[in-house]
Amino acid sequence: MPELPEVETIRRGLHNVLPGLVIADISCLHPKPFRGKKDALIGLAVVAVERRAKLLLITLSDQSSIAVHLKMTGQLIWRRENAAAVAGGHPSVSYIDHLPSKHTRVIIHFTDGSQLFFNDLRLFGYVEHLSASARLIHPFLTKVGPEPFDEEFSAEYLQRRLARTSRPIKVALLDQEIVAGLGNIYVDESLHAAKIHPKRPASSLTTAECEVLVPAIRDVLARALLHGGSTERDYRNAIGEKGTYLSVAVAYHRTGLPCTQCGEPYVIERIKLGGRSTHFCAHCQR
Ligand SMILES: [Zn+2]
Repeated sequence: MPELPEVETIRRGLHNVLPGLVIADISCLHPKPFRGKKDALIGLAVVAVERRAKLLLITLSDQSSIAVHLKMTGQLIWRRENAAAVAGGHPSVSYIDHLPSKHTRVIIHFTDGSQLFFNDLRLFGYVEHLSASARLIHPFLTKVGPEPFDEEFSAEYLQRRLARTSRPIKVALLDQEIVAGLGNIYVDESLHAAKIHPKRPASSLTTAECEVLVPAIRDVLARALLHGGSTERDYRNAIGEKGTYLSVAVAYHRTGLPCTQCGEPYVIERIKLGGRSTHFCAHCQR
């Protein structure tokens, strides 16, 4: 699933091209992913493309917004003749090359002739029109925790939230109500950087450890943003390149390779925690 760096990368790409475009029509090629009344969108202009956690929010001229969640297999591709395409989301080009493809669910047509395609193989994602008031009471947006780069996400805040749960720290950091936007890759990377064992009960973390963990999370995410996110296959980010974070990852998908903190003979191990594969070094992560 795309995590904060991948969603932020596509957000930046779309924010460069969508503002000012006016919606001419919406095509729903499958009844499930589109939530709202498409007629209410026609004639509205895009003002900005924002992000909250892993949710993209395309803000419109009447203060309403189109919320897009890519979930496991969603993609967004913007295309205009004679312009570079903007694409991001699930790492498969197999349903980007010819559009609309059999996985295209929603198409937003703009008056300049450009189109925004929402592709989703497994149909978990959605495109939802939210009025300004609906956005204020949206069940996800009202519950989601602070963004990792916000001041509110402090060591004191994190320690206080973690104190309430005995779940392993790995599982707690995946909880979007504790912190927004983290997923499997960047939690493994952050815990390795902070030398914290993924199985540690969240409530056992001290404020001092949280003072290491919070900047570790920010460093990992900042590095991932510089690399345009992560890709394991033919994923293309918003500027038409692969996300290259995995080439500098220290824990994720490095099972059996030497720990970058400890060196030989200590290697990265892989276990399952909360149903998710978890990569760590048992020597330096305590
Ligand atoms: Zn180590």
